[in-house]
Amino acid sequence: MAEAETFAFQVEINQLLRLIINTFYNNKETFLRELINNSSDALDKIRYESLTDKSKLDAQPELFIRLVPDKANKTLSIIDNGVGMTKVDLVNNLGTIARSGMKEFMEALQAGADVSMIGQFGVSFYSTYLVAEKVIVTTKHNDDKQYIWESQADRSFTITRDVSGEQLGRGTKITLFLKEGQLEYLEERRIKDLVKKHSEFISYPIYLWTEKTTEKEISDDEDDEPKKEEEGDVEAVNEEKEEKKSKKKKIKEVSHEWQLINKLKPIWFLTNDWEDHLAVKHFSVEGQLEFKAILFVPKRAPFDLFDTRKKMNNIKLYVRRVFIMDNCEELIPEYLRFVKGVVDSDDLPLNISREMLQQNKILKVIRKNLVKKCIEMFNEIAENKEDYNKFYEAFSKNLKLGIHEDSQNRAKVADLLRYHSTKSGDEMTSLKDYVTRMKEGQKDIYYITGESKKAVENSPFLERLKKKAMRCFSWEYDGKKLVSATKEGLKLDDESKEEKKKKEEKKKSFENLCKTMKDILGDKIEKVVVSERIVDSPCCLVTGEYGWSANMERIMKAQALRDNSMSSYMSSKKTMEINPDNGIMSVKDLVMLLFETALLTFGFSLDDPNTFVARIHRMLKLGLSIDEDETAGDDVDMPALEEDGAEESKMEEVD
Ligand code: ADP
Repeated sequence: MAEAETFAFQVEINQLLRLIINTFYNNKETFLRELINNSSDALDKIRYESLTDKSKLDAQPELFIRLVPDKANKTLSIIDNGVGMTKVDLVNNLGTIARSGMKEFMEALQAGADVSMIGQFGVSFYSTYLVAEKVIVTTKHNDDKQYIWESQADRSFTITRDVSGEQLGRGTKITLFLKEGQLEYLEERRIKDLVKKHSEFISYPIYLWTEKTTEKEISDDEDDEPKKEEEGDVEAVNEEKEEKKSKKKKIKEVSHEWQLINKLKPIWFLTNDWEDHLAVKHFSVEGQLEFKAILFVPKRAPFDLFDTRKKMNNIKLYVRRVFIMDNCEELIPEYLRFVKGVVDSDDLPLNISREMLQQNKILKVIRKNLVKKCIEMFNEIAENKEDYNKFYEAFSKNLKLGIHEDSQNRAKVADLLRYHSTKSGDEMTSLKDYVTRMKEGQKDIYYITGESKKAVENSPFLERLKKKAMRCFSWEYDGKKLVSATKEGLKLDDESKEEKKKKEEKKKSFENLCKTMKDILGDKIEKVVVSERIVDSPCCLVTGEYGWSANMERIMKAQALRDNSMSSYMSSKKTMEINPDNGIMSVKDLVMLLFETALLTFGFSLDDPNTFVARIHRMLKLGLSIDEDETAGDDVDMPALEEDGAEESKMEEVD
């Protein structure tokens, strides 16, 4: 045996050890996670070195972490074949050079901080003394001989050349001589649970040396000399069978084996997805804040994507490869909750609680970066039309929610939206494309929503858009306002004073009619007014500027399970607008009308309710014997609504 050299712990380290040993802490189990993390770091280092020099792995090619509880000696050993330490490393790292975080950690501890934060301060090795009265570190670095570090944390440690001990080849073995009260860490169950809780996704295999006892029957004559199978790993204990007549005996056999106790899944497996992803993005952020992340978009939306009662498990937060929590709402906004992934941060404390996370600035920065990367990823998907169609079919609702939720990224999310427009045919178009195709002088983007493309194409709401700008502020895209054609509060631009005066007079003369109509319709509507938007149709229903549109109301009503508290005030504000210039147009659709009413009677639905309604109105006028010529207004140059092909050209002009 080589001679031991004794070293004194650096002053602060000694203070820290005193604090660790003499204070009562709840989270003593922290030590295991910290040692496994250190092993994992050491394995990372040797793996990294081997990238440029393969021979560095020669002594121990297969990288692993092993845990060996030894009940007889009351020791727990953590073994890795990572980079190991030279003698100089040992002296410096484990006792003589104080880490910068040490003082801060002691202050934090004295101020009541949790001991599980130790890893954050770069002094985690010393957490061994939470559970051990003595620690022996045996280590072998490729560039040096094998050495033993030993200390009972009593001011000093020793280092000895290890000439006679079991040779590691490469790596480090840390043996903890457990305190009497800490023997729970010898129990397989306890160790497995701890690894599962804190270290499950360490990217090296963690093996536990497990013990198995089996009972075996043997006949009497074999019994004299129990065989030792499997090279010394089997201890045989005789046990007399109660019924001696049978001349058979039962023996207990104890065998040992290495059991893999962590999962080692590839990272995207973390989300338990059974399908390939549609897109993936792997990135790291450096600088003031550092973290790594992998994000991906699944191929399809989960069936419960919009069930707000269910928490999504999609982004998992790790701190230095240690799992901290999933379904972390603070990490990703609601509209992106279909994005799956993992975030691994070096800057967060390991024991961070949910409450702390909510206030944590680091998290806000991470979140901002994740959103940015998600949008980048979606734009990458958009480079491939087929993929984007899939993506859009599955997640367009989320993007629309994003427009609503994420004011900061509204413009970027808006770029991802696709709409039908008359000029884009069956394909959908982006707002960007729409804007490049806008007519000279067109200031706003007009939109209308409905159940189907067909149902909105002939909507009376679009009648006047061809000529005049109607404005209902909703939000902006690229400096242009998006204007709903179906909401109240529209104003005509560019009107001459004369036109305005004429309109006012007309409004006045219809005041009584409006009042009578309101009396008849009662609560069904808010008010009846003279319309500025319709040209051909006799009337339309509009919704309040801030209430739901008809389409939105239909969607909300269809969601049977949704919270209904909003519907009463959101859905009630309908205004009936009447067209003072409307006259009877035609009766030629009587046959069509019969057919369409038959459709309704027999439970079918109408593809195009607008045309149907136009027909009904014409019939009503006919019944009242109103002459079309008498009532035709100033917009007679507009194509009649029912004429074949008129709808198409109308939409063209709106686009
Ligand atoms: P850190 O936060 O830097 O890991 P520690 O107190 O846990 O702080 O460890 C101090 C240093 O000791 C580490 O930076 C590393 O160089 C070395 N070390 C600790 N454990 C191991 C190990 N299992 N293998 C190799 N080196 C180790």
